[in-house]
Amino acid sequence: MVKFFIDPGHGGKDPGAVDNGLLEKDLTLKIAKCVKDLLEDYEGVEVKMSRTDDTFPSLSDRTNAANNWGADFFLSIHINAGGGVGYEDFVYPGSSKSIAYQNVIHAEITKQIDMQNRGKKQGNLHVLRESNMPAILTECGFIDNKGDAVKLKDDDFIEKLAVGHVNGLVKAFGLKKKVETKPAVKVASADKLYRVQVGAFSDKKNAENLAVELKKKGYPTVIV
Ligand SMILES: [Zn+2]
Repeated sequence: MVKFFIDPGHGGKDPGAVDNGLLEKDLTLKIAKCVKDLLEDYEGVEVKMSRTDDTFPSLSDRTNAANNWGADFFLSIHINAGGGVGYEDFVYPGSSKSIAYQNVIHAEITKQIDMQNRGKKQGNLHVLRESNMPAILTECGFIDNKGDAVKLKDDDFIEKLAVGHVNGLVKAFGLKKKVETKPAVKVASADKLYRVQVGAFSDKKNAENLAVELKKKGYPTVIV
């Protein structure tokens, strides 16, 4: 079982970055929920989120929740602001495990999205420093950049962002897709079971009675 802790940045009284009619807290939640849904298609995966609606857990609440749960990986999702353009991600300076995961995840996200690549970075940020497990913080475009904002308003782009995050985790943790059960197989076996039951009567009289009943209900019957 691999336990992923997903942290949609900000929330509640803290909107995060705001511009171009967008709130960072809404975008991070949207991306995080999409990541959660996609991850649950894989075997042996457990997902916990720092928030699932418009609430404000403090930074300590978030890292405490991940540490107490014993998460294997901490993924924090943010949107940037401050006059730049493009995607970048951060890990704690010198954390070799996190850097190894960053290499894989960064490659998969930038492969999915049509957005400028600002590169792999390191930063002494609370969620990266205070989480006991490998952690990454992604900054998915600049809310105050017109071009990035147009992309962030597009649900297809949000889904591609989420797919990039998930593909990165799938590769990094060697996850396998769940095998889907086919309803057609169930119908065939139910039919088989029905035939066995009808043919299994040792007393012919009982079988004949059942045949009459079935005929009344419109089933074709044969007694051998
Ligand atoms: Zn943020």
